[in-house]
Amino acid sequence: MTVSASRFRLCTMCRVEKVLAAFGNNKNGKNGLSGICKACRNSAQKDYVRRNKGKVLSGLNNYYYKNQKALLLQKQQYYKQTKESQVKKSRRYRRKHSEAIWSRWLYRHYGVILAEIPASLVSITIINPE
Ligand SMILES: [Zn+2]
Repeated sequence: MTVSASRFRLCTMCRVEKVLAAFGNNKNGKNGLSGICKACRNSAQKDYVRRNKGKVLSGLNNYYYKNQKALLLQKQQYYKQTKESQVKKSRRYRRKHSEAIWSRWLYRHYGVILAEIPASLVSITIINPE
């Protein structure tokens, strides 16, 4: 498992250096994180909606809004059909990436980097659901 050397990142929008947890995920971004901090992304999103109210509202009146019941039903059916394989897939993923998941959780909640904790203090028991 690799932990980023830097715990901070410069937001490309507000130009403020913030902890990594302040950035959203973005598969295409550096280290899998967005280049814009969450606060900036939220305000940009709100700004967009304010500036494009007509567009956003007419969007709601369009396809997704008009078909929301059918789309929901479709989603539920798809979920029912693929439930088992999805559960298996996510179980497999969690097992394979358990250390990374745990270390991300630790960092998000306590700002602690797992690799920096002395091994003598760490005792991890990974419980497999099967
Ligand atoms: Zn920002």
